[in-house]
Amino acid sequence: MESLKEAWAKVKEYCKENISSVAYSVWINELSPIDIKGNEVKLYVKTPFQKSVIMDNYASVIINGFESVLGFDVNLNIITEDDSPSSSAETDKKDELSPDYEYTFDNFVVGSSNKFAHAASLAVAENPAVIYNPLFIYGNSGLGKTHLLRAIQNTINNKFPEKVVRYVRAEDFMRELIPAIRSGDIQGGQSAISEFQNKYRGCDVFLVDDVQFFAGKDSTQEEFFNTFNSLYQDHKQIVMTSDRPPKDIKTLDERLRSRFESGLISDIQPPDFEMRVGIIQRKAQMLGMDLKEDVIYYIAEQVKSNIRQLEGVVKKLKAFSMLGSDNPNISMAQNAIRDIRNDDQPEPITVERIINEVARTYMVTPEDIRSQKRDAPISRARQIAMYIVREITSMPYVNIGKEFGDRDHTTVVYAIQKIEKLLKRNSHEKATVDDIIKNIQDK
Ligand code: ADP
Ligand code: MG
Repeated sequence: MESLKEAWAKVKEYCKENISSVAYSVWINELSPIDIKGNEVKLYVKTPFQKSVIMDNYASVIINGFESVLGFDVNLNIITEDDSPSSSAETDKKDELSPDYEYTFDNFVVGSSNKFAHAASLAVAENPAVIYNPLFIYGNSGLGKTHLLRAIQNTINNKFPEKVVRYVRAEDFMRELIPAIRSGDIQGGQSAISEFQNKYRGCDVFLVDDVQFFAGKDSTQEEFFNTFNSLYQDHKQIVMTSDRPPKDIKTLDERLRSRFESGLISDIQPPDFEMRVGIIQRKAQMLGMDLKEDVIYYIAEQVKSNIRQLEGVVKKLKAFSMLGSDNPNISMAQNAIRDIRNDDQPEPITVERIINEVARTYMVTPEDIRSQKRDAPISRARQIAMYIVREITSMPYVNIGKEFGDRDHTTVVYAIQKIEKLLKRNSHEKATVDDIIKNIQDK
């Protein structure tokens, strides 16, 4: 397995050099290696949609990558969360395959910081669309929002197998929607968009993760609003998560905000010491590891605000103790914590990420922004992107110009001044820009 991981890292490098960096980060980076048998390479990506895009556009570069790294031709087999887990024989792969199998209510440690969100989720899972509709759960990253959504999904699947449950990340909802809208425009046909609509309006339980992503994306919000209304009128259960409450998602359409706020809103706070201890014990137990009290307390003192990190530390300790013979002690815990903090550094902010985020928001492509095109919507998006780059990175004007299709620094100065003025008089644009900046910084 280790060697497949290494090979995959090299294949990714190969892909990085051979396709655009956007395509790389949006598609290739989402893949993870599962196993290799003979010449069949199995990779995992979350959604069937991602799989189809990758197979249609990037299969050959991935295969060439493997060829250059391994020296022989491979068959590519991409599996997604929709592929039944029993079809991939070995159960020890399931952790690699998708951690979703662990996302159950049984595995969710309840404490004072999350007990309301937990109780509401459980109530919804046991009686969908009866109470708390919609349910809106918010809290910082790594505190268990996705875990709760998946637990709702798993419970309903078991308890009400006839119900259609759809889980989607807000970002994937948008990635799927945009091409559907575009193909509708071009062909005058409705097929892609109505397929999209049937898919989401035809479910009984709709679980949408990280809706803060909709901030500022007007046409996606429009479609989401329609989906929401259609489901709500049909008395279907809707559950959403976000990293902030609806009132703090600034460029959320008022109509959507009031929909979000019309049901139950529940927050998740960081865990207290007692709960952190509980989580460490539970995770250690799940990994079949016996942690001493002083080690548990040490970790609980050090890692305070993120359950994902707590879990990561315990997994690291497990790996350390499998490598050496020692029972985990404080100094091993120190190393594990240091590693986790390094692994969990937020994605660095780059001009590329800023351009991508702006492009998404304004429905243009990153290439448009870097191009010499002068259509009004593209110029506007470009100027906003320049403004945000300057705001966040304080990069010199000359360098900003280089990043944007080799423009002169006076063009950059002009663009930024123009946007500064615009934001003073237009509060909607200001809110959109604030949301973009927040999305970039919080990632
Ligand atoms: P979020 O979606 O809020 O960023 P996740 O649901 O992805 O957070 O949780 C991060 C990790 O921490 C997951 O592996 C999850 O299983 C674990 N986790 C979060 N909260 C709990 C909890 N209360 N009990 C057990 N594990 C938890
Ligand atoms: Mg999440």
